[in-house]
Amino acid sequence: MSKLIIANWKMNMSANAAMNFVTKISKSKNQIVIASPYTFLKRLKNQLPGFVKLASQDVSIYEGGSKTGEISAQMLKEAGCSYCIVGHSERRIFKHETDEEINTKILNLLKFKITPILCIGENIKQKKMGQTNKVLVGQLEGALKGIKKIGNFVIAYEPVWAISTFQTGKIKKSASLDNIKKAHIFIKNWLKKRFKSQSNKIKVLYGGTVTPQNSPEIFKLKVVDGALVGAASLKASSFNAIIKFN
Ligand code: PEP
Repeated sequence: MSKLIIANWKMNMSANAAMNFVTKISKSKNQIVIASPYTFLKRLKNQLPGFVKLASQDVSIYEGGSKTGEISAQMLKEAGCSYCIVGHSERRIFKHETDEEINTKILNLLKFKITPILCIGENIKQKKMGQTNKVLVGQLEGALKGIKKIGNFVIAYEPVWAISTFQTGKIKKSASLDNIKKAHIFIKNWLKKRFKSQSNKIKVLYGGTVTPQNSPEIFKLKVVDGALVGAASLKASSFNAIIKFN
């Protein structure tokens, strides 16, 4: 089975570095997506090889109008985005994003047929207190509230403690294979209960320090449909090493 592998460039790369990166992407049998900063989305779209799709890293809760600095789902569609990340833990932490706002963003994206990449995951305190499943359910219920027809949809399980954020500056480790497997099974069972047969189309990815070293083992897990990759997606060499999985 091919995997969905998404690069999350965050607030990195210049337009020139991004265009240069694109010329170096190796062909892959997996589905590849790049979540780029806004300013060169359109330029990137024109340069990307056909097998690579474009994603935004966020979208506004508003649909348009007098909302200085915001970017709408319609604008992202026009720029060529097929996907959009929502609810990334960095935004939940630094921008205090709520599940309600994330739900609104998802509804806006669905109107424009942009596939949401919903990030969920527990922090270290919640993990230690054995609250992982409770947190996942709360985030899923909140973000997917009122949604009956789900269509194409991506969930990224990203335990906050495994993401190499700049918050602490410390090198963190990825989740164990057992940890990843358990969380993915739990999420998939929840989706099956909630969306019945529609859940077959929902992809569940793992994110949190995915590297060329650990990605083959993670991808071998059948319950893992792919990965959301941060730091290791910034260099073509390490990203190519991850996407060559088959
Ligand atoms: C992320 O923040 O979505 C992520 C997966 O980052 P990293 O791979 O650097 O942990």
